[in-house]
Amino acid sequence: MMSAMTSLGHAQQSPYRGPPDLNGAPEGTSVVVLGAGLAGMCAAMELRNAGYSVQILEYQDRAGGRCWTLKGGDTIEELGGYSQNVEFSDGQYINIGPWRIPHHHLALLDYCHRLNVPLEVFVQENQNAYLHSTQHFGGKPVRYGHAWADYVGGITELLAKAADKGALEQAVSVEDTEILLESLKSFGILDKNYRYTASLDTAEYRGYPDAGAPGGGLWDAAPEPSEPIALNELLQSRFWQYMRNHTTYRHHAPMFQPVGGMEEIAHAFEREVGDLITHNARVTRVVQGEDGVTVDYEPARDGGEGGQVTADYCICTIPFTVLSQLDIDVSPEMRRVMRQLHYHEAVKAGLEMKRRFWERDEQIYGGITLTDLPIAEIGYPANEMHSDGPGVLLGAYVYGPQAYVYNSMSPQERLESVLSQGEQIHPQYRDEFSSGVVLSWHRVPWMLGCYSNWDDRGRDYEIAATMDQRFVCAGEHISYLPGWQEGSLLSALDAVRQVHERATSQ
Ligand SMILES: Cc1cc2nc3c(=O)[nH]c(=O)nc-3n(C[C@H](O)[C@H](O)[C@H](O)COP(=O)(O)OP(=O)(O)OC[C@H]3O[C@@H](n4cnc5c(N)ncnc54)[C@H](O)[C@@H]3O)c2cc1C
Repeated sequence: MMSAMTSLGHAQQSPYRGPPDLNGAPEGTSVVVLGAGLAGMCAAMELRNAGYSVQILEYQDRAGGRCWTLKGGDTIEELGGYSQNVEFSDGQYINIGPWRIPHHHLALLDYCHRLNVPLEVFVQENQNAYLHSTQHFGGKPVRYGHAWADYVGGITELLAKAADKGALEQAVSVEDTEILLESLKSFGILDKNYRYTASLDTAEYRGYPDAGAPGGGLWDAAPEPSEPIALNELLQSRFWQYMRNHTTYRHHAPMFQPVGGMEEIAHAFEREVGDLITHNARVTRVVQGEDGVTVDYEPARDGGEGGQVTADYCICTIPFTVLSQLDIDVSPEMRRVMRQLHYHEAVKAGLEMKRRFWERDEQIYGGITLTDLPIAEIGYPANEMHSDGPGVLLGAYVYGPQAYVYNSMSPQERLESVLSQGEQIHPQYRDEFSSGVVLSWHRVPWMLGCYSNWDDRGRDYEIAATMDQRFVCAGEHISYLPGWQEGSLLSALDAVRQVHERATSQ
């Protein structure tokens, strides 16, 4: 999915050049912002700083939207009446939505800098994490670094054989064949006969056997070669499907995470605009007129009050999954696009373990294990490395059709399923598990999905991103960076630009 999205052009460098110039805001001009996720709060902050009168209507009692970190004491409510209490120890958390920030997400990094959100490194690729197939290697996990080095060795050996026999002469000149052979030998760690075999040279890349790493003194000091995995086994295991995962542009190292959880970014925005937010306000209707916009809202939960807000302009960051079910007064074309935009599915699990056994027992510090089990991924925390514990693992990041299977389970069934799969990779699971939470994003009432997926961007995107009378959409979905906070911020800044241009031209 990720590589398909990359090839569709969803992986462009952020065009962020700083906040827009909003000089000359007409006095008394008002803007109502719908939704207090990052897009809504960023738009509100820039508009207020420029002199606009702003208010935000937000469904939840918290700000941040999908920028959400679960900690002990939190409660999650899902559609269907499911409720989960998070029972993590003090200081432990799971980023149940966004968890990593690419180094080229310039807007997000700049706002973190300006709003004093400390960042630390997020480990994406870890050669000591695992690849796992239920059908191969006896169902035992294989170190990613072993599989990677051996796969590169295996295919470079094959290519070297072909080049040596002159089979590539149509594609590579005689002179270049010499260089190609030299490069394959160096890149694949092939021997002088262009074979990839067990040797101290290959061990230096794939790793040493458990009792054969280089030591000191006399006792067990001399290193020993490790045995590569045969190419045919690697081919059949289909581990190669996972090997490009960490190398997509969006996952290039280094990546970052806020210290203390992703929601620290939301808290930072909230410090700027928290006073503008009306919580527990479920927007139900937007009506546009010659002179302004009227928004109706009702209490999202018992005990609140409904109301009506009028403003000159409206920036709406409510996801289209929800918005398409509301009474929104926009052009029929924009309504069609709202209804048709598809959102991906995802289920994420956080599992608190008493001990950081992945570090102590298996020397896995951060990074991700990939498996053909429905849980798909196990993510190891990049915070508090080397501490005694506890620690919270990302126990599952389920996507694709499997996510719909999880959507139909109760939280308890999901948790049991996640644990029973995870223990196939880490047998320590049952002994070390203390508490867990599994969120199905389709069941989140204010979201109903994970992130947007444009079927026909060429036909629909401009309609969604262009101001309709006095109403303009913003958010992750109004960007070429779907599923990334950077897209939310960039779209918010563009919505602000559109409002400002309209307001100053009148
Ligand atoms: C599982 C998952 C993993 C992700 N991973 C990453 C990642 O690693 N890195 C990254 O950068 N991004 C990631 N993202 C994407 C990122 O979370 C989003 O792009 C971003 O947070 C969206 O911000 P937003 O303001 O556009 O929308 P939201 O955060 O969805 O804000 C919309 C707001 O509207 C409110 N709302 C909804 N309905 C109503 C209503 N009727 N009335 C009033 N308010 C309403 C909601 O409560 C919410 O606060 C991930 C997302 C998910 C779900």
